[in-house]
Amino acid sequence: MATLRFQALKETLNRKPIEVDEKIRRSELFGKNVFTESVMRQFLTKEAYQSVMEANATGKKIDRTIADHISTGMKEWAISKGATHYTHWFQPLTGSTAEKHDAFFETIGDGLAIEKFGGGQLVQQEPDASSFPHGGIRNTFEARGYTAWDPTSPAFIYGTTLCIPSVFVSYTGEALDFKTPLLRALQAVDHAATDVAKYFDKNVSKVQATLGWEQEYFLVDSALAASRPDITLAGRTLLGHSPAKGQQLDDHYFGSIPSRVLGFMRDLEKECMLLGVPVKTRHNEVAPNQFELAPIFEEANLAVDHNSLLMDVMTRVAERHNFVVLFHEKPFAGINGSGKHNNWSLSTDTGVNLLGPGSTPMKNLQFLTFFINTIKAVHDNEELLRASIASASNDFRLGANEAPPAIISTFIGSQLTEVLDELEKVTDGKLSPQEKTELKLNVVGKIPEILLDNTDRNRTSSFAFTGNKFEFRAVGSTANCAQPMTVLNSIVAKQLKEFKKEVDELIKGKKMKKDDAIFNVLREYIKDSKNIRFEGDGYSEAWEKEAAKRGLSNNKNTPQALKAKVSEKTIALFEELGVMNRIETEARHEIELEEYVMKVQIESRILGDIAKNHVIPTAIRYQNILIENVRGLKDIYENDFKKHSKEQLEIIEDISRHIAKINSGVTNMVEARKKANKIEDAEEKAIAYCDNVKPHFDEIRYHCDKLELLVDDEIWPLTKYRELLFIR
Ligand code: ADP
Ligand code: MG
Repeated sequence: MATLRFQALKETLNRKPIEVDEKIRRSELFGKNVFTESVMRQFLTKEAYQSVMEANATGKKIDRTIADHISTGMKEWAISKGATHYTHWFQPLTGSTAEKHDAFFETIGDGLAIEKFGGGQLVQQEPDASSFPHGGIRNTFEARGYTAWDPTSPAFIYGTTLCIPSVFVSYTGEALDFKTPLLRALQAVDHAATDVAKYFDKNVSKVQATLGWEQEYFLVDSALAASRPDITLAGRTLLGHSPAKGQQLDDHYFGSIPSRVLGFMRDLEKECMLLGVPVKTRHNEVAPNQFELAPIFEEANLAVDHNSLLMDVMTRVAERHNFVVLFHEKPFAGINGSGKHNNWSLSTDTGVNLLGPGSTPMKNLQFLTFFINTIKAVHDNEELLRASIASASNDFRLGANEAPPAIISTFIGSQLTEVLDELEKVTDGKLSPQEKTELKLNVVGKIPEILLDNTDRNRTSSFAFTGNKFEFRAVGSTANCAQPMTVLNSIVAKQLKEFKKEVDELIKGKKMKKDDAIFNVLREYIKDSKNIRFEGDGYSEAWEKEAAKRGLSNNKNTPQALKAKVSEKTIALFEELGVMNRIETEARHEIELEEYVMKVQIESRILGDIAKNHVIPTAIRYQNILIENVRGLKDIYENDFKKHSKEQLEIIEDISRHIAKINSGVTNMVEARKKANKIEDAEEKAIAYCDNVKPHFDEIRYHCDKLELLVDDEIWPLTKYRELLFIR
C-alpha cells in the first residue's frame, strides 16, 4: 500500500475544525498591535510625535536626537505589549519578507541588564545581507547594504517582536528591495498628480495612490501537502490526473465556506485586525479549495506592506489549522489559477477620488482628465506593464483559459466609451461658448456619479475600469504588489507631467482658456490611445489576432516579457522620475532572469525525481502484479491463456510504453538542462530554460498521468487531485 498517501488521508479525514474565540469586537481589536497615531500621542513627546507626522506628510528627515525619543517611546509601548525583540522588517528581492530579531535586552556590567532600543537602532540597521539577491550591485559597489526605517508605514508587533517597516539599500544608495522604488514612484505620482489636480482645485497639496488588493489562494491539508514532493518544494503540483469532477458544476464559487476553512479564516482575520490590516471580504473562489480575501483599500505603500505581511501571517495561521496555503498562480492543472487583482486609484488630501466621477461638470472634467491620462499611460507603456507582472509562476496563468491574457488592454464600459467618442469630436483650437455648454451639459455633465457599467464588468480584461478605480487583473497571486504598483504609478506620473506641459503650452502659447486647453489635449490622447481599449472577450482567439493587428505586445513568457524592463525607454522613464537609475534597473532585470531560471530548474529536478523514483517504480510494481496474473492464467489455461489475458497483456504493454516515454523525456530534459547551464548570459540562459527545458514538462507529465489512471489506486504513492481538492 502507498503508506504515506493513505496515512495522510486518514489524518485528514480525522481533523476537526479548530475553535476561534471571537468575543471581542473587531473594531476593538483593530490596530491593537500597531504603533498608530493615537499610541504615538500617548508614548511620544510632543516634539517626537510631530516629527513623525511631518516625516509622514512631507518626507522631512527625522533628527537624530528626536529619533532617540521616538525609539524610547516605541520600546516602552512594545514592552508593555509583551515584545522582547525588535527587527527591521523589509522586502528584499527574494519575494518574501525578511527579518532578523534582536533582543531589547542588553547587559550593562556588574551582572546587571536593561532593556534598550536607541534611535540609531530604530533608524538604521545592517543585516548581514550578502546573501540577498542584488544583481551585481553590491559586488561592483559596496559589499554591504543597510536597512532604514520607513516612517510612512507604522511599526507593529507580531508575536513578541516589534517590526519596523524598512527599506533596504546598498551603501552607495542603490535600492536592493521592492519598497524603495515604490516609495520613489509614489512620490513622483504625488507631485505630477497634484500639479494637474490644481487645475481643478487650488487647495490640493498632496495626491496619494490607493491600492486595494484581492488575494486568491488555495488551501490544502498539511498532511496531504506533505505527501507530495512537488507541493512541498515547488508550491504546485507538477503532475496528477484531473479528477472526474473539477469545477464544472461551479458549485464552489460563493458557496458555503467549509467549517475547517472558516476556522482558519476567522483566526486569520483576527490576527489581521490586531495588525491593522483592514480585511473585509472572504469567500470561496471558482476552483475547489480556492478562496479569496480582500481588505478595504489603503494608501499604496501601506497596502503593499499589508499584503506582504498578510501572506506571511496566512502561512503561519494555516499551520495552526493544519493547512498549507498555496499562493502559486497555477497549483493545479485544468482548474482555475489564482491572481491578485490590484485595484488602484488616486486620491487627494482634500478627500477626492480622482478616478471617481463627480456630481458637477467640473468634477467630471477632472475625473476624465485622470481617467484618460491613465489610459494613455497604459497605452504608451503596455509592454512595461506586462513586464511588471512577469514571473515563472504567472506564466502558467496568463493566457490560460481563465486568466487575463498576456496582452494588456483596458475595458471602460459602454457609457464611458460613448463619452470618449464625443470628446474625440471636440473642435481643434478654441471652443465656442455653445460647444462648451453643450459639452458640459450633455457629455461631461451626463456622467453619473455611479456608473452603470459598474455591474457589467468585463472579467476578461487585464486592466479594467470598474466605476471609480482601475483593476489590474493580470497581477499574479504570488507577486509583491510593489512591482506592478511601481510601474503603474511611474507611467501615470510621467503621463501627467506630459499632460501638464502640453496644457500649459496651449494656455501660454496659444492663449487658450484652461478648459479649452484641457479638452484639446484630451482629444488627442483619446485618439492616440484607442488601440489599448478593448471591450470584447479578452480570452478569445479573435482578440489575439486583433491585438496583433493593433501592434500590441503579446509576450507569453517571462524571459520575453522582461525585455521591456531594460529597454532604453524604460531606463529613461525611471531615471527621469528618480525611481531607479540604470544600474538599479539592469540589476533587477538580471535578478528576475536568474530567479526564473532557478524556478524552472527546481521544478525540472522535482519532476525528474518524481517521475523516476515514484512513478516508474510504482508502474513496474503494478506491471509485475499483472505479469504474475498472466503467468497464473497460463498455468491454468496453457495454450488458451491469451484469450483470458488479452486485457492484462495490453495494460502490460501500455505501461512499458509510458515508462519508456517518461524515461526518454527525463533524459532529454536533463540534457537540455545541462546545455542551458553552460550558458553565461542571464537572458540567453532564461530563454533556453523556457524554450528547451520547460517543454519537456508536459510530455513527462502526460505519461505519468496516464499511468495514474492505469495503476492500482492502492499502490499509487502520490495523493490524487480529487483528494487534494475535495478533502478538507
Ligand atoms: P470585486 O472586484 O471583487 O467585485 P469591489 O469592486 O467591491 O470587488 O472592490 C474590490 C477592491 O477594490 C476592494 O479591495 C476595495 O478595497 C478596492 N477599492 C475600492 N475603491 C478603491 C479605490 N478608490 N482605490 C483602490 N482600491 C479600491
Ligand atoms: Mg476584483
